[in-house]
Amino acid sequence: MRLSSDRIAIKANIIRQNVVRMLECAGSGHSASSLGLADIYATLYFKLLNYRSNEPDLSSRDYLIVSNGHTAPVLYAAMAEAGYFDRSELYNLRKLGSILQGHPERVMIPGVETTSGPLGSGLSQASGIAYVLQYLDYNPHRFVYTMLGDGELNEGNIWEAAMFANKYKLGNIIAIIDRNNIQIDGQTEDVMPLGNLREKWESFGWHVQEIDGHNIDEITSSVEMAKAITNKPSAIIAYTISGKGADFMEYDYKWHGKVPDNQQADYIVNKLKADYKSLQQEAKDV
Ligand SMILES: [Mg+2]
Repeated sequence: MRLSSDRIAIKANIIRQNVVRMLECAGSGHSASSLGLADIYATLYFKLLNYRSNEPDLSSRDYLIVSNGHTAPVLYAAMAEAGYFDRSELYNLRKLGSILQGHPERVMIPGVETTSGPLGSGLSQASGIAYVLQYLDYNPHRFVYTMLGDGELNEGNIWEAAMFANKYKLGNIIAIIDRNNIQIDGQTEDVMPLGNLREKWESFGWHVQEIDGHNIDEITSSVEMAKAITNKPSAIIAYTISGKGADFMEYDYKWHGKVPDNQQADYIVNKLKADYKSLQQEAKDV
C-alpha cells in the first residue's frame, strides 16, 4: 500500500490516538518511544514495506525485525491499521491470553517475524535473515528492516552484528535507529554516552544517513537511498521526540515506561483529534 505523505500523516495521527487508548486501557507499557515512532511506522506500513496483511507469509515480503520490543504498542497500532487483525484487539494489550503481549511474540501475531524482549538481539536476527536472502536465496528484491532504540545501542551484541553485516556486505539491511536521546534511566548521554553515532556506524563500515524522524518525506527518501546502496548495510539515524503528540511527555525520559491516566489520555486524544481535523483539511486541499 502506498499512500501520499498527507494520508500517511493522518495514519500516524490515528496510530498515536490508538497507542494512547491502548496504554490507558492496559494500565502499563511504554508511552514515550511508541508515540515518538508513529510517523516512521505509518510510513513503513503505508509506503515502504512490501507485505500483504491477508497473506503474512508472502514469499516476496520484506522483513521487519523490531529489536526495541517495548515499543510494541506502535507496532500493534500500525499493524491493526494495515489490516493484520481487528482494531478491537488493541484493547487487549498486555491482557492474559491476548495475542498482544508487552513484547511482540512470533507465531502469536500474524506478520510478526521474531519474538523480542532482550534488547540488542534484533540486529543479529536481521543480519542472519539478510545473509540468507543474499547468499542462499540470491534474492535482491527483499529487504530486512530493523528498528533499534538509541539506548539499546549500549548492548554489545549490536556491535557484533554491525561487524558481521559489514563483513558480508549485507546491502539488504536497513537499520532505523530511534534517536530520541532517552532511555529508561535518563538521557542516553548521561547513562552511557553514545558519542558521534554517525562516525561510529561509519567506522563499522555502514552507510549512514541522519533524518528528522517525523518528516515523512525524509523517512521515505532515506529508505529509498538505503535500498540503492547495495554494497554495504545502511543505518538511518532518525531524530525523534519521545512522547511526540503528548506535550507533557515530550523529551521527558520518565515517560519511557509510564502510561497516561484517564484524564491525561483524554487530554492527549482530544488534541490529536483536533490535529486530525486539520490534517484532513490539508489533505483535501492537495
Ligand atoms: Mg531512546
